[in-house]
Order: sequence, then C-alpha cells, then structure tokens
Amino acid sequence: MNGSDSGNVPQPQIDGRGGVDTGPRNVMLDLQNPDLLTPPPTDHGTLPNMKFSFSMAHTRMEEGGWTREVTQRELPIATTLAGVDMHLNPGAYRELHWHKEAEWAYVLEGSCRIGAVDQDGRNFLDDVRKGDLWFFPKGVPHYIQALEEGVEFLLVFDDGSFSENSTFMISDFFAHTPRNVLAKNLGWTPEQLERMPEREKYIFSGQVPPPLESDRVVSPAGDVPRTFSHRMHAQEPLRFDGGTVRITDSTNFAASTTISAALVELEPGGLRELHWHPTNDEWQYYISGFGRMGVFGSSTLARTFNFQAGDVGYVPFAYGHYIENLGNEPLVFLEMFRDPRFADISATQWMANTPPQVTADTLNVPRDLVESLPKTKRPVLR
Ligand code: MN
Ligand code: MN
Repeated sequence: MNGSDSGNVPQPQIDGRGGVDTGPRNVMLDLQNPDLLTPPPTDHGTLPNMKFSFSMAHTRMEEGGWTREVTQRELPIATTLAGVDMHLNPGAYRELHWHKEAEWAYVLEGSCRIGAVDQDGRNFLDDVRKGDLWFFPKGVPHYIQALEEGVEFLLVFDDGSFSENSTFMISDFFAHTPRNVLAKNLGWTPEQLERMPEREKYIFSGQVPPPLESDRVVSPAGDVPRTFSHRMHAQEPLRFDGGTVRITDSTNFAASTTISAALVELEPGGLRELHWHPTNDEWQYYISGFGRMGVFGSSTLARTFNFQAGDVGYVPFAYGHYIENLGNEPLVFLEMFRDPRFADISATQWMANTPPQVTADTLNVPRDLVESLPKTKRPVLR
C-alpha cells in the first residue's frame, strides 16, 4: 500500500483526537491491530505487552518438519507458561526426549502417535487427532510420530523460560557418553554402536507407523495408571447464547496435574464476559477468527489487544478482562493456566449474588436493574 490508496489505510485519528500518520509505517500490522492504532478511549496508562504472534517467531526447520516457540523471551510478561507450534510430515518423528517442565499439548491439524514410559516402567501409547490433547509430567520421557496425514500441534510448558531447543534428547545423551560405557550399559558391543548418531536428531523423517495395536509393547509393570491423552473437543461443551466452552482440568483429565485449560468458541458478536482468574496467569492461543481483548490492571490501567489465528495472548493473575469476536466467523481460542483446576470469577455473577442495594448504590443504577442480573455464570454471551 502507498499514499495513493490512503482511503483504505487506517489512521490514528478518531473523534477529533490524534492525527494522520503520513510517515513510514507497517500498514499490514496496523490493519491487524486496530485497537492499538486507535485505542478505545477507556484505554489508559502503561501496561506491558500481552500479545505475540507465532508468525513473528523464528522457525526452526528440520528434515521432517518445523517448529517455532513463544516463550518469556518473545513475550516477557509470560512467566508461567511457554508455547511451541510444531509440524511433523507424515511418518516424521519428534525424537525420544524429556524435559524439566510438564508438557500439555493440543492437536491443531492431522494426527500423531504419542508414547511415554513413567518412572515405574509403566507405558503409554495412543493415537491422537485434531481436538485431542495430551499431558506428560515433568521428566517423563516421550516421543511423537506423525501418522499418514502429518500433524500440527500446540505444546504448552509450565515454565515461561522453557525452550524447545534445550530438551534432553536420547541421541544427544548417548553421543556424549563414552562408547565403552554406553556399550556396557546396554549389553551391546562397541561395534554394534558404530552407526549411532553423533549429534541430536530432534525432528527427523520416518515411515508412517503400523496400526496402533501392532505397535504396542507390553510392559511387565503394565500401563500408566492415568492416561496421558484426552479427547478435549469430543467433550460435550457448555452451551450459551453466543458460544460454547469446554473445560479440561484435573477433575476430568486426572493426569494433567499442573495445567488446566478452556476451549472457547465465540460466535460473531459474542463476548467472553468480564471476568478474572483467582489462581494464576492466563496464556492464550488463538485458533481462528478475529477479535479483541481488553485488559484492566487496576489503578486506571487498561489496554486493548487484537488477536487472530496463530497469536498468543497473556493476562496476568487477577487482571480483569473480556474478549470480543469482531469478525464474521467464530473466534476460537484456548485459555491455559498453570494450575490443576480451571477457575474464573464472573463480574456479573458476583454482582447478582451481592445484596442488590449495595451494587445499586455503588454503580448509580436502579435496584431492579441489578436484580435482573443472572445469578448463574454466563462465560460467553451475545
Ligand atoms: Mn516434549
Ligand atoms: Mn480469562
């Protein structure tokens, strides 16, 4: 775009405030962030950045797939959780590995096989597809392999300083162990280790695996007592006028002891109501649609951010916020928390369950208006 089609170019100017931006500018970014360019007049003061897009993150490309991450380094306020977006071509592997953080994952497209073995030698193997999730506790070793259609998934780790580039890989471990020690450990001869990789493999090509049942190993210790996979999208949603909500936490997915989540689908014009979370920060991933989030940080501070597919949002603990669908298609996003239980406080429910005269006197509205508020929660509405 250039000056000749300035009629289509948004300007930082509204209702007699601001002025035309004739200087160097990134119009594509301005178009994606209308509430940054011309913020609602209710925005005020300086709040930290709470948005980062995977499209602004470095892509690590490997033979077999790619990955990129949004961590505390990209989004400094995001201290509790970090996210990774990963794609594996059909049959490709994410190598056998482990890490210091627990791993929660949501399958965005396609399908993959996931396997893990816990500290008691109990094993886990399952196939997961779009809408399913998994959870691997910290330190538990695991692998991922794409099935015939390939796979893209979102990984969420329970520490903002996590990096996908510093996990513990079996090839890296063995490449840095003397060969005679490794041979003794495995009961093999050094000659049998000759073709072992000299560096980490990380993501690499492979053949699409056989059907799940023929890939299973029977451990004498049995299976893991609590399955590491869960069909999140297959959950019957909570339905409201304006959209649906699916909540997955340790109450319906027992293995997920450190991360809880909600999958929200907001219809056009729908609103994720004014609320906050009484336990922890919120890390968001936007799957489709276009919308905005207003965040209130007390002491007059408020800021508005726009989001679309592939963006990450963040809300500090206790900050009030809402999310509004501004587009013509559903706005679909995940809310994640470093907490075993999902919890939110609804401003409306709070008001409706407080003696009505108190709220009426506080907000300068008639008492009967307060009495008309619903006493049960409406997480989304129209
Ligand atoms: Mn992992
Ligand atoms: Mn929230």
